[in-house]
Amino acid sequence: MTFTETILKWYEAYGRDLPWRRTRDPYAVWLSEIILQQTRIAQGTAYWERFMERFPDVQSLAAASEDEVLRLWEGLGYYSRARNLHAAARQIVALGTFPDTLEGIRALKGIGDYTAAAIGSIAFGLRAAVVDGNVYRVLSRHFGIDTPIGTTAAAKQFGALAQSLLPPDRAGDFNQGMMDFGALQCTPRSPACLTCPLSASCRALESGRVESLPVKKAGPAVTERYFTYIYLRCGGETAIRKRPSGDIWQGLWEPLLLEHDGTAPEWPAWTSEGTLTPLRLGVKHVLTHRILHADFYLFVTGKRPPLPEGFRWIPESGLDNYAKPRLFELLLDELF
Ligand code: SF4
Repeated sequence: MTFTETILKWYEAYGRDLPWRRTRDPYAVWLSEIILQQTRIAQGTAYWERFMERFPDVQSLAAASEDEVLRLWEGLGYYSRARNLHAAARQIVALGTFPDTLEGIRALKGIGDYTAAAIGSIAFGLRAAVVDGNVYRVLSRHFGIDTPIGTTAAAKQFGALAQSLLPPDRAGDFNQGMMDFGALQCTPRSPACLTCPLSASCRALESGRVESLPVKKAGPAVTERYFTYIYLRCGGETAIRKRPSGDIWQGLWEPLLLEHDGTAPEWPAWTSEGTLTPLRLGVKHVLTHRILHADFYLFVTGKRPPLPEGFRWIPESGLDNYAKPRLFELLLDELF
């Protein structure tokens, strides 16, 4: 049996039963691919179901406000995905139908080569290989390739290899089979080589390199940022502002933020005219390439302090109506 046939057979027997795999509706497939771009399947499934229930088709998603889409997305992180999803829904509605070519799918906001290949192959049977971390791992081990992942050379080499392995039909099944095989059989640590249907032809197994493949390129440095949040309370109201563009969490709402260098924030003079109480200190929040260290404070006052431009006073009971970053959610958990 060839490599391709083995993957397809394995997928029939052990592929994961996921709700979006029971349909070929491109909208449902697209939604799952965007949600799963940076999210694990266990968490992503609940969000996919929630989105499909609230927005069963692309028209309803396109007709929603961006704020509503962001609210439904809350907790998934990487909010640019939600904004792109919303913008792409409007593109699709303007086109009149979901694009069914790779170029057409690639032209939608928030879609790169990988996602276009996944949607195209799964929903339309296009012969386009997907190459994600799972696929890199399986190919690198099985074919004994040590080109460092994350380099242009690897993208070219693995992309061409994956493309050459695609079956003439069932490209979607093969792509999903490769991803599942990497996630369940040829796992990053302790792959199940003993029960692997590819073990007889696996170069890494043969040469004792299962642990050392794939080779990874050194990642970019991690930056650390220090946030002090002050939740203001004045007569049942609080002040929040929308985060500006050009930084994390664009378009989400947060309380007063004092960002500092890790020593201490510069407290505004007005903090002496009320009661400032620490809610929680030393919260660590990890994002891709960033570690945020946050302290949360509550400031209770009888008089609204002067705030920078962009702040809006709202009733505390209305906070649910605003999409918030995870850190603000954590602060509210401490408070209420
Ligand atoms: S034998 Fe082991 S390393 Fe090789 S493909 Fe199978 S699970 Fe992966």
